[in-house]
Amino acid sequence: MKKLIFAGIVLIFAFSSCCDEEKNVEKEVLIQKDSSEISNSEHLSMATLWFQKSAEAKAVYYQTFNFAKTVFDGKIKKDRFKLKKKKPKAIITDIDETILNNSPYEARLIETGTSYNEKSWSKWVNEKQAKALPGAVNFMNYVKGKGVDVFYISNRNVKYLQATLENLKKVGFPFADETHILLKDKTSDKSARRDSVLKNYKVILYLGDNLRDFDENFKYAKNMNRNDSVAKYKDLFGAEYIVFPNPMYGEWEKAVYESDFSKSDNEKRKMRIDALNKK
Ligand SMILES: [Mg+2]
Repeated sequence: MKKLIFAGIVLIFAFSSCCDEEKNVEKEVLIQKDSSEISNSEHLSMATLWFQKSAEAKAVYYQTFNFAKTVFDGKIKKDRFKLKKKKPKAIITDIDETILNNSPYEARLIETGTSYNEKSWSKWVNEKQAKALPGAVNFMNYVKGKGVDVFYISNRNVKYLQATLENLKKVGFPFADETHILLKDKTSDKSARRDSVLKNYKVILYLGDNLRDFDENFKYAKNMNRNDSVAKYKDLFGAEYIVFPNPMYGEWEKAVYESDFSKSDNEKRKMRIDALNKK
């Protein structure tokens, strides 16, 4: 009898170890299968998750608009006692990832393993369902309430003017009209559009998630080291320039890919790792 029990235990051990081995092999195959199916845009997922899911991202937007309001109030107060007739006041803001949230578009790129392209972007913009970022609508309406105009200067293509206007209006932004929305026609350089506002208005504040929303001197081609340019203009940040976080995309990416987005996905993956500071 004892012999029979012992044989049974040996058999159970042998069977379970055989099954464990099989399970491990299955698990390994599953991992290999998963990694071979990783989307070419998978590297965007953590940044997009942070932008969409983290309470910290929302807090940063509230914090930045609260700060913008303090700076704005200070400028209005300072100007109040000047008697000389002056130009009316305005602020200039970027749209995407400054006041409108397009992170669902990034999520679609990750899901489909694709990169930014005109077809998918056009579909997203024409859906007109981008939501306002936290604090943005309140701030812009506060500015309007103080008698100051808001100009939206964005590098969305001019063909999206109507869709953009409707999207801004739908979520409650003021001045959502053809006079106050200046989109990209021929160039992504916003200088001429900024100048056209400056001709008739005193611009007291600029808001954006990309440094080129403030000054073309931050363009990568002109400044191989954008960090040097930031150091040069450091006194303007928080005084005239209000910057918002965008870890998903932006001018900063060009520094990683040496301004060449035509490289293969594998080359870009390697360049991302090489560009990281290890010390
Ligand atoms: Mg933007």
